[in-house]
Amino acid sequence: MDFESLFRADLEQLKDDGNYRVFADLERRAGSFPKAHHHFEGSGQTRDVTVWCSNDYLGMGQSAVVTSAMHEAIDKCGAGAGGTRNISGTNHYHVLLEQELADLHGKEAALLFTSGYVSNWATLGTLLSRIPDVMVFSDEMNHASMIEGIRHSRARKVIWKHNDLDDLRAKLAAAPADAPKIVAFESVYSMDGDIAPIEAICDVADEFGAMTYLDEVHAVGMYGPRGGGIAEREGVMDRLTIIEGTLGKAFGVMGGYITGSVALIDWIRSFASGFIFTTALPPALAAGALASIRHLKKSAIERRRHKENVAKVRAGLTKAGIPWLDNPSHIVPVMVRDPKKCKWISDILMDQSGIYVQPINYPTVARGAERLRITPTPLHTDADIAKLISSLSDLWSQCALARHVAVA
Ligand SMILES: *Cc1c(COP(=O)(O)O)cnc(C)c1O
Repeated sequence: MDFESLFRADLEQLKDDGNYRVFADLERRAGSFPKAHHHFEGSGQTRDVTVWCSNDYLGMGQSAVVTSAMHEAIDKCGAGAGGTRNISGTNHYHVLLEQELADLHGKEAALLFTSGYVSNWATLGTLLSRIPDVMVFSDEMNHASMIEGIRHSRARKVIWKHNDLDDLRAKLAAAPADAPKIVAFESVYSMDGDIAPIEAICDVADEFGAMTYLDEVHAVGMYGPRGGGIAEREGVMDRLTIIEGTLGKAFGVMGGYITGSVALIDWIRSFASGFIFTTALPPALAAGALASIRHLKKSAIERRRHKENVAKVRAGLTKAGIPWLDNPSHIVPVMVRDPKKCKWISDILMDQSGIYVQPINYPTVARGAERLRITPTPLHTDADIAKLISSLSDLWSQCALARHVAVA
């Protein structure tokens, strides 16, 4: 087998399709968020860019509240955790952080993982492989981490139409009445920015005695009076069996978690391979996340300014006739619907305007749904916004892309 030529052929195919991923080599500059240095490929030179596609939605990754907590923890505890959670790696910051997370979601207990991806993969994988005869009902737009956890478990799975209550009910009703059931879904969907009807989904799940598993990754820190997510905003956190989240997006650090009952958390802690057999998060990460969560529980100004900037970007796009996908969240998808044009626009924005928006192509989104996923933050200035809109508008004409006079 000529492995090298297999690898090269697959990569050529990706490039031909316009789906080959090129990473922007960035050097984020603490205190200047959302600005960064962009290192050109191999040239040793850098230029300043404004980042418009970060999931550090509120800029907490550079907040002094977070970085000073991390510095302090490094000075106190050193760099790494020094082991798995079971074998010397549990640091007091992990314990405090789990208490904080349980409180954030109104649950009895919480469990940390090394990322949100791992928390979904390990939790769903463990539930679905250990509960006899269990079936999972998974929203068709669920994130890859949930899909992989489900696949890994080999449990029976039923995919229901995105956010479609009738389809969910019909599929639950068609399943054997005595099979244990888990309904898995997200609150804010990351690419379209739409939001699930959480309470209504819980009502349907209750009709069939199903457990509910909610991924709030794009909502934690962002919604609800204390940043507990959409379920907090809607007063329905107690309706979910498990609420899962990340420390790597609005909280600005890294790591993932689940929250739930004491017995459930203890059970996952005891049986999930993806939790047990891996080194615990560095204490400084836990300390930074702890500081970030505590801050966002009390402070709403970041969320308010963030909303204002999202509204400004949308208004600017509409005025310029650039089509964006309307949704009730903070994500602004500008639809290009062509992988090559999407990449081209992104490249020119970077090269000519110092604006960085990564093109989102297949398989992250469906073919024909290629887009620029714009994520305004509270720290983008009015001048940043004006420059984004005018640069996009120029490129829109050059690319001969359709303009919409108004997008609802
Ligand atoms: C990013 C993401 C994850 C994974 O979280 P990480 O902490 O980045 O691993 C899980 N679910 C959804 C919906 C996501 O977008």
